[in-house]
Parts: sequence; structure tokens; C-alpha cells
Amino acid sequence: MTVTDLVPYDDALAAYDPVMGLEVHVELGTKTKMFCGCSTELGADANSQTCPTCLGLPGSLPVVNAVGVESAVKIGLALHCEIAEWCRFARKNYFYPDMPKNFQTSQYDEPIAFDGYLDVQLEDGEVFRVEIERAHMEEDTGKSTHVGGATGRIHGASHSLLDYNRAGIPLIEIVTKPIEGAGERAPEVAKAYVAELRELIKALGVSEARMEMGQMRCDVNLSLRPKGRQEFGTRSETKNVNSLRSVERAARFEIQRHAAVLSSGGTIVQETRHFHEEDGSTTAGRIKDNAEDYRYFPEPDLVPVAPPREWVEELRSTLPELPRVRRNRLREEWGVSEHDMQSILNAGAIGPIVATIEAGADAAAARKWWMGELARNANETGRPLEGLPITPAQVARVAELVKGGDLNDKLARQVIEGVLAGEGDPDTVVEKRGLKVVSDEGALTTAVEEAIAGNPAIADKIRGGKVAAAGALVGAVMKATRGQADAARVKELILAQLGVEG
Ligand code: ADP
Ligand code: MG
Ligand code: ZN
Repeated sequence: MTVTDLVPYDDALAAYDPVMGLEVHVELGTKTKMFCGCSTELGADANSQTCPTCLGLPGSLPVVNAVGVESAVKIGLALHCEIAEWCRFARKNYFYPDMPKNFQTSQYDEPIAFDGYLDVQLEDGEVFRVEIERAHMEEDTGKSTHVGGATGRIHGASHSLLDYNRAGIPLIEIVTKPIEGAGERAPEVAKAYVAELRELIKALGVSEARMEMGQMRCDVNLSLRPKGRQEFGTRSETKNVNSLRSVERAARFEIQRHAAVLSSGGTIVQETRHFHEEDGSTTAGRIKDNAEDYRYFPEPDLVPVAPPREWVEELRSTLPELPRVRRNRLREEWGVSEHDMQSILNAGAIGPIVATIEAGADAAAARKWWMGELARNANETGRPLEGLPITPAQVARVAELVKGGDLNDKLARQVIEGVLAGEGDPDTVVEKRGLKVVSDEGALTTAVEEAIAGNPAIADKIRGGKVAAAGALVGAVMKATRGQADAARVKELILAQLGVEG
């Protein structure tokens, strides 16, 4: 189906009611894997972080990572789930080359956490409750690289390479109950939910949850039912969507595609789908009916997990302030609107701004630089804000230099540019590039006199009372000082020289 075959979004929503289910996988930030002592550090040589257990060699035995269980309990508690008093791991049997054991150690009918919810705040400030079915522990698979084809997919490849460094890294899978009642805001709810979950995971300190690095990925299940009908329609499952924007686009596309199929009398096939970043479309993956048989059975090599109640309560008492609550608190402290706070959240700027304020900047300045110059740079270079080569302390120093009158905004932008380019600390960049506001009144006065002499017609206008015309002279002085003057001071000097009240 091409994009042009889609039913317009509003028409789809006029006829149908969307139901969604979101499955989010989070890679935990534990030092070692879920069932062995291998390192989880990224970037190592292929297959250098493997052992008999995560390679599934005969006779090897798994041992549960205690930090993995603790992280799962924390996530469950933060999602208001019940924590199982006793649960087991299960083998999910299937064959795929990136899974050397030929089964994934997961949980099936005994998840560690179940029946919770997460409240998410929408753009207009309204709170929408997403109910959680379960959160369970499992392990990641290895990584296949298909070589020789044009697309990187297995079709057309001459051979494949396998790297098992990721095999066995702990994952928590968080599954929602069917999300009903979101109507035309379903894609927005999906995005807000994943965003909120990401913030929560980060706040708990159990993972960095960087979607662009695959540490958090979302499967978007979606179905439509005719308005007024109770029974769910058949769902599609768009796999491994790995950015907030893509989650929203995938849900939106599927609503329009389902509507097109259903309204022309077709039937939706229950299948997985691939999302395509380039045009926001999805294409068919594999057929997936409910009879799929993984021959699940309890893992015989691992003891059951029975988290003691006192320990669970102890963990509960250490939970941090929920991100949404914290955001509302910061929003009031900073004096920004719901909408601005949403933009700050979407930009991933809350952490950097808080850290910049802690380093001594005032809230307005911290916000201005992270949401302005730095957000622009992050966008242009495709990096997250926190991945930029500038620290909150350095941003705070730039803000301090501006506040003290040593830099104006224009110069400050150049200083930031210098820091990002690796030229050193703000003070070093100021020094090396010679970026200081000209505060020498003598030099400024000379520049002002020259600007007046060079633009007699404008000077006359100002003398005649058109103060607004002073902008052109300020511009001339700024040019003459290569932008290194304080524009407000220059204007004062011009008006004073021309004998006009500001
Ligand atoms: P699977 O293993 O097939 O992915 P799961 O139960 O793990 O199944 O996840 C299915 C997800 O889709 C859950 O979030 C569930 O709430 C949701 N879901 C189930 N049925 C439907 C439906 N008809 N339409 C939309 N979402 C659905
Ligand atoms: Mg699924
Ligand atoms: Zn191992």
C-alpha cells in the first residue's frame, strides 16, 4: 500500500475507534549480563564478551543477576504494579541464529510485576492513565549483520555475521493493557507514554534508556473497531520503533492504513510490520496468529524468584519523585508554561537545565541556551543534548560571562560554538578568539562618532525625534566592533551624542 492509498486521518477517526497496545523493551544498565558474568559494555570486539552460558554451550548453568531483579522490582513499583511473591523464568523456544541457546530465557505466565498504571500528561496538560498489564524480565539476543546485499536485510545477502556480545543482556519488557478511549489522540498518547516511561526509567537509574542506541524500543500494536462497537478489531504489531517521533508516526500511519483496508471491505491480517523512518510508512513482516507456539515451560536451571516483602518495601521507600510530579514542580519553579515544559521534555533538556542551574546559572539563562543554541546544534548534528561535548558547568560559565557584561548574546554563541568545536573551556575560547565585549568607553565613543559622521541623514532623523532610526547606527557600530560591543550601551551613547532622550 502506498502512502496515497491511506484514508485521511480525520476521516479514519470519524468512522473508527483506535485501540493500542504498547510493548516496550528496556535494556538494563547492569554491569554484567542477566544470567552470567559477561560484561555489558558497548563497543567491544565482536564475541569478546561471551561465555559458555550466554553462548548456550552444553553443561553451562545460568545464575540470576541480583541487580537485574532489583531493577525489575523498582520499575514495577514505579509503575504502581503488584510485585509477585514468587515467580519463575520460562523458556521461550524458537530457532534463530542470533539466539545461540535456541530459547530465550523470559517470563511467561508468572511475571515479576503486574497490574499497574502510568499517568501521562498530554500537550494540553490533560492526564491520561495508561494501564500496565505486566513487566517481566528476559534477555536480549545477539546481533546479526547481513553482508553483501543492497539493503542490509537477509534477502540478497551473501553471508551473515553474528555477534553474541548482546546475547544475555538483561531486558525488562513492559506491556500495556489495551489502551482505549484515546480517540484521535492515540498517536499522541503512544508518544507521551513512551516519553514518560523513558523519563521514569532514567529517574530510577536502572538504564540510560537511549532510544537512538536501542536501549529502549517499542512495539506498537494497533487495531480499529467501528465506532460504537465493543469488540476489538484485528491488530497489527509494528516492531522495534526506536524514537518518540517514530512511535507517534507509526500509530498514525497504522490508523490510516487499517481504515483504508477496512473501509474498502478488506480484512486486517494479524502480522508484524516494519516501520520506515524515511516516509513514516510500515510494511508487512511476518504473519503472527495467536496460535504461535513457543512451547513455553518453566526454566529448570534457575531457582524461582521470591522477593521478600521487607525488601520490596525498602525499595519502595527509595523510589525517586515521579518524573511527572518533578516536572510540574520544576515548571512552577522556572515559571514556564505547560507547552514550554513539554518542549523542554521532548528536547531531553530537563537534566541539562537542572544541572546548569545547580552549577550556578539562573533558570532563564540555563533554559535559553539549552533550548536555543544547543538544541539547534544537537538537531543539526543528530546528537541528543546530553551527548553534546559541552558540560552544564561550561554553559553556566557562559551564562555568568553574559550576566557580568563580559559577553553579549552574539559573542556567547561564538563561545559555545568554540567549546563544541573542542577549543576548550569558555574562558579559553574567549581568550583564544579574542571575544570580549568592548567595554572601553573611549573606543566605543570613537566608534559611535564615526558611525554618526558616516550616516548624517540617519543622524538627522534621530535628532528630529525618530529614535527608532538609531537601530541603523547601532548596527554600524556593532559592525565596526565586530559584534563585540554591548548594543544597549551603544544605543545610549548614540542618543546622548545626538542630544536625544532614550
Ligand atoms: P504478543 O506476544 O503477541 O506481542 P502481548 O500480549 O505481549 O502479545 O502484547 C500484545 C499487546 O497488544 C498488549 O499491549 C495488548 O494489550 C495489546 N492488544 C491485544 N489485543 C489488541 C487489539 N486487538 N488491538 C490493539 N491492541 C491489542
Ligand atoms: Mg509483541
Ligand atoms: Zn556470558
